[in-house]
Amino acid sequence: MIILSINAGSSSLKFSIYKMPEEEKIASGLFERIGLNDSKYSIKYLNNKYEKEVLLENHVDAVLKLVEELINLKIITDIKDIEGIGNRVVQGGDKFFQSVIVDDKVIEGIKELYPLGPLHNPGAISGILAFKNILPNVKSVAVFDTSFHQTIEKENYLYPVPKKWYEDLSVRKYGFHGTSHRYLTDAICKELNNDNLKIITCHLGNGASISAIKDKKCIDTTMGFTPLAGIMMGSRSGNIDPSIVPYVMEKLNLNSQEMSNILNKQSGICAITDGIVDFRDLEVSYKKNESKAITALKMFTRRIVDFIASYYCLLNKADVIIFSAGIGENSSFAREQIISNLSMLDIYLDHEKNNNIEKGKINLISSDKSKVLVYVIPTDEELMIAKDTYNLIVNS
Ligand code: ADP
Repeated sequence: MIILSINAGSSSLKFSIYKMPEEEKIASGLFERIGLNDSKYSIKYLNNKYEKEVLLENHVDAVLKLVEELINLKIITDIKDIEGIGNRVVQGGDKFFQSVIVDDKVIEGIKELYPLGPLHNPGAISGILAFKNILPNVKSVAVFDTSFHQTIEKENYLYPVPKKWYEDLSVRKYGFHGTSHRYLTDAICKELNNDNLKIITCHLGNGASISAIKDKKCIDTTMGFTPLAGIMMGSRSGNIDPSIVPYVMEKLNLNSQEMSNILNKQSGICAITDGIVDFRDLEVSYKKNESKAITALKMFTRRIVDFIASYYCLLNKADVIIFSAGIGENSSFAREQIISNLSMLDIYLDHEKNNNIEKGKINLISSDKSKVLVYVIPTDEELMIAKDTYNLIVNS
């Protein structure tokens, strides 16, 4: 069965195509700047990369082009080969506990969540509707970044603010990157042949979050009402004293949009280093002994260590810590910085293993004396979306 895994934004559409249940990725690509003057797309398949600039007025144009090119490039033989479409939806609020087959009610539900996911949900709906238009008979599935976190209990998802904010405005922790945390959980449970593990998953990319998981259920996570919360990130502040916000808005005469923009795009590592967002550049600068990079790295590490230690207590010890995403999978340096601060919990790295990761594989990197197993696992949100889509379609 050919399944498309789709991540649609307001002006982009990322896709991966899988043969399921073999989990074989047969192509992937990106349509960019949809609705803008200089739209373009790229498709990767086998060892080829195909790129083209073309006018794409909307998501329907992009989907039409995608299907046309898949047939032209002989990635599929006929439009009928596509049997399922899985769509990433960032905000599922407390409406969606798991992935679902899309119908009119689901579309309405995702739209009702626009106020909670204004930057992401409209793009997802554009993608869903475009496929509905071009492939009306193909089943479509919505996979939510938030749904894995719906098992978090009230005491962990409520904020200590007026109850009406929760009741009337839906202000609570939702958590994000859920598809990745779920993928990592499934992968380690399968690897260790044990569904009753206590796991701390560290998804450390440009956006970053950590989750505490027990018996495959999420107990807590660092992102919150929005992906701005939790640990310090490439350009996001993570948790700060909330009083800073009205104070600075008043002093600098900023409106809420400007403030939100600064906290999301000009804070985190970027703010402390005067402009470094990419972790590779931070490593270079740190190794040159540049003081801003040293401070940023200490801040970044400190916040991650604090959450790992906190989740270790919440879980009453942990069996496994997992590193994943751009930084977690690729930076032995970041992993070393973090784990070297956890020796009081008897967590230790095997430096040889940490420095010699086999890419694309599950790697154990803790030393024999470590009381907690430490792993590097490459995450794969697109595959998780394809798996959910396949399973829902087969069982519907
Ligand atoms: P996102 O999906 O949130 O954009 P990614 O998971 O792609 O993020 O991670 C991007 C981050 O991973 C960047 O900060 C990048 O510098 C970092 N990264 C990627 N490769 C390496 C590497 N080899 N060493 C250190 N950091 C890396």
